[in-house]
Amino acid sequence: MLLSRFKGNLYPLVIEAQTSFYGSMLSVNIRVISRRAERESRYEADERRSSGALWFAIKNRLSTGDRMRVWGLQQECLLCGEKDETRYHLFFACPYSFMVWVRATGSLLGNRITPDWQDTVTRIQYDRGNKMDMVLMRMVFQMAVYHIWRERNTRRHGKAWIPMEKLAYQIDKTMRNIILSLRYSYGSKLEGLMRRWFEVTS
Ligand SMILES: [Zn+2]
Repeated sequence: MLLSRFKGNLYPLVIEAQTSFYGSMLSVNIRVISRRAERESRYEADERRSSGALWFAIKNRLSTGDRMRVWGLQQECLLCGEKDETRYHLFFACPYSFMVWVRATGSLLGNRITPDWQDTVTRIQYDRGNKMDMVLMRMVFQMAVYHIWRERNTRRHGKAWIPMEKLAYQIDKTMRNIILSLRYSYGSKLEGLMRRWFEVTS
């Protein structure tokens, strides 16, 4: 429906939405990157790399199996064995990654949590919930995409696999450390970000 209504200028609309979606995350990234000159912690490095993975995922430029076929390579999903590895499968139609997503987000997304990539991106872009939940949603989405993509690559290179519970735990740990590193000032609307994260994930 949306496609036919905006057929003439769909492409610019989509690009604009994606750019602003990604741009809205930069506020988090910039604050962390600006302190890289001092000493980059493991979590800050994770945060920086995760924004790159997210950008590639949003643009559908990750080298997933469907894209590798163009180069004559066969790649099934390394997380569950599904024959057709696509971005939509990895985030989060794959049973492994969906369980990681469910565990990592706790009650943040409520019963509207879905394995559908587009529905998830749309919700994160346009949902008008409270500000802290929106920030947490964007952050955990970025972290989940990064950690799942990293786990997929680890398996591709024949290294040890991580069970879904452990991957979700790693996402939670990274979230806590990044929230801590943001150091919101007293009185800021986001001052209670960590408290809210504990509420939805405990
Ligand atoms: Zn899978």
